[in-house]
Amino acid sequence: MKTPQNWTRATLGGAARAGDPIIIWCNNRGCAYQTKHGSAYRAVLTPADLAVFAERYGTAMTFIEFRARLRCRHCGSGDVSTMVDSRHETPGERWEREGEPAQRVPVRWHKTP
Ligand SMILES: [Zn+2]
Repeated sequence: MKTPQNWTRATLGGAARAGDPIIIWCNNRGCAYQTKHGSAYRAVLTPADLAVFAERYGTAMTFIEFRARLRCRHCGSGDVSTMVDSRHETPGERWEREGEPAQRVPVRWHKTP
């Protein structure tokens, strides 16, 4: 049986070294972002971001510990998930492949009147 043991043991330092972006998303169904946009808030941590976190928290911090410190910027919920993104593919390349970047980029802000 294959377990995600490598993943649960993954550390910030290891992830930064591996150079894979990490996707984070908010699981809170009552999230302000989800209410407004109809989809969960997602953000991508680039290897450069991970290097910064590794410097702040220590390269030995596991993702389980790191995730516990993450908070959704829209609702403050700590119920977030993390996932390793595709290897050797930037978000921009992924959008080119998958199309519809507007639906996949949660970074655009719309002010509600
Ligand atoms: Zn949220």
